[in-house]
Amino acid sequence: MNDFFSSPSVPGNDDIISRLQAISNAFVAITSELDLDVVLQKIADTAREVGKAHYAAMGVVDENGKITSFITSGITKEQRELLGEPPQGHGLLGLLITEGQPLRVPNIAEHPRSCGFPPNHPPMTSLLGVPVSVQGRVTGDLYLTDKIGSVAFTPEDEWWLTIFARQAAIAIENAHLYKKARIAQQRSQTMAELTSQLNQSSQPEELFQHITRAACTLLELPAAALYLLNQSGSRFDFEAEVGLRNLSQHSLDNALPIHGSAAGEVLEKGLPVIIEDKAELEIMGFIQLENGEQPRSMLMVPIRRGTLVKGVIAVYGSRPRRFSAEEETILQAFADQAALALEKARLYQQKEEFLSMTAHDLRAPLTAIKMSAGLLEVSLPSDLPAPLKQLVSNIGRNSERLNTMLEDLLDFSRLEQGRVVLKLERLELTEALSSAVSALAPLFEEKNQQIELKHTGGKFWVLADRNRLEQALVNLLTNANKYTPESGRVETAYMHEPGWVTVEITDSGPGIPKEEQNLIFNRYYRRSVHDQSRLTTGSGLGLPIARSLVELHKGQLWVESEPGQGSTFKLRLPIAE
Ligand code: ADP
Repeated sequence: MNDFFSSPSVPGNDDIISRLQAISNAFVAITSELDLDVVLQKIADTAREVGKAHYAAMGVVDENGKITSFITSGITKEQRELLGEPPQGHGLLGLLITEGQPLRVPNIAEHPRSCGFPPNHPPMTSLLGVPVSVQGRVTGDLYLTDKIGSVAFTPEDEWWLTIFARQAAIAIENAHLYKKARIAQQRSQTMAELTSQLNQSSQPEELFQHITRAACTLLELPAAALYLLNQSGSRFDFEAEVGLRNLSQHSLDNALPIHGSAAGEVLEKGLPVIIEDKAELEIMGFIQLENGEQPRSMLMVPIRRGTLVKGVIAVYGSRPRRFSAEEETILQAFADQAALALEKARLYQQKEEFLSMTAHDLRAPLTAIKMSAGLLEVSLPSDLPAPLKQLVSNIGRNSERLNTMLEDLLDFSRLEQGRVVLKLERLELTEALSSAVSALAPLFEEKNQQIELKHTGGKFWVLADRNRLEQALVNLLTNANKYTPESGRVETAYMHEPGWVTVEITDSGPGIPKEEQNLIFNRYYRRSVHDQSRLTTGSGLGLPIARSLVELHKGQLWVESEPGQGSTFKLRLPIAE
């Protein structure tokens, strides 16, 4: 018969109604609580009070019958701490869990299955324990010890504690489900955030770091590593780690072999490898956590492209640990997203290399065209018809523009690869800005724009590469000129604060909506919606180049703007000592 409906023998005790009332009242409080630990504590406290015992304890048992949480009532916090880890369930508690039957013992020490008390355990004599079961499976145990005012617990005590445990099981299960649902919901939210961040970096190093950090966050574990299969498929190269120590020193060539490694097993089967306790397998080899200890548990999932394994993500735990099916699924889902991001980064890298190679190759013929057009322009006969003169000057102007675009492309790829080295000198910022403005004066005149340098005197010394700083300023001023309509206005000003100076370039152009104010600093990003962008030419590299240059100078570049109200680009640099 179903365990739930088999009633324990009903005692004829006057106390019953008051006890039932007490537990029913307690359950209103217990079931209104969803935090598992609080629920367990309330159950243990209620059991102790209603059962009139000195002590009570509530254990939670996992699928393997192991006690994973142990909540006590009636002993002080300090006493509880001295007891340490939950009991292993070898003695009487084990009996309670394996037999799934109540246990009423007048003297614990005399019971044949008793294995005594651990050190620091308060002395206890009588015991009444009942299993806590859900759908026929024992999920915990609840017991009282040392009945107050009596030598032993009675059958009545057993009767009501059994009833109490049945209700407790439901409250615990609810709290369990709630906790699981909450964790799952938090995980999927974290997963969504982490995956969307994956798409923000196309720099391999940055991406590798992000992947390992995200893997730790997802499973709330202290360490993770990323390995990618090398081109020939002969080993896994180490790419990034979080929370591991001296990985490179311990691992030969910074790589994992295919044979005998967990990664090799993942490659062979195309499936995750789980190590719940290192004792199981010695394939974690050289890995050390930051505290110098070896990890005890690991979950390693494949990074797949189609059916091929291209790498692995491993997360490590400092203690033995089970990985639930849900955890495995979520890390695998993340690895699949990471695989897409890695592939995108690889293609991006190829495209960049191709672009920079092409730009490089186009330079020589373009220089020849530019020089020839220049020579042609100065050696044209003066009586040449104006339309012909115009054609020659078009060649000159457009080859100049093409040249600027090529230079931007090359510059950007140099900056991305960290190949730009600054020639730093102490220079004066207001002079650098004036010189950039003078160089562009003809452009402002052409559009009949007013440019005003607002400067109340004072000098701002910065440590900078003159050419590179001017390049950043020129890019900002060129944009102000390009995107501001004819007869518009551009103003420059300075803001001084301790240790910093900020150049502000304000225009009366169309402005930039909030949601695009960061995007415009992304490579190749051009606002397609607003008229001025469509009418102007550009490569979408001016701002990313300017920002990279400013950041190389340990400064910042950003924009403040309202659509229809113009824009202010702010370039902030540290003042030189
Ligand atoms: P490009 O000017 O070659 O398009 P940039 O990287 O310099 O590339 O600028 C990116 C985009 O930012 C431009 O296409 C434009 O839409 C927007 N933008 C830049 N500066 C301004 C400005 N001063 N006012 C309005 N929009 C601007």
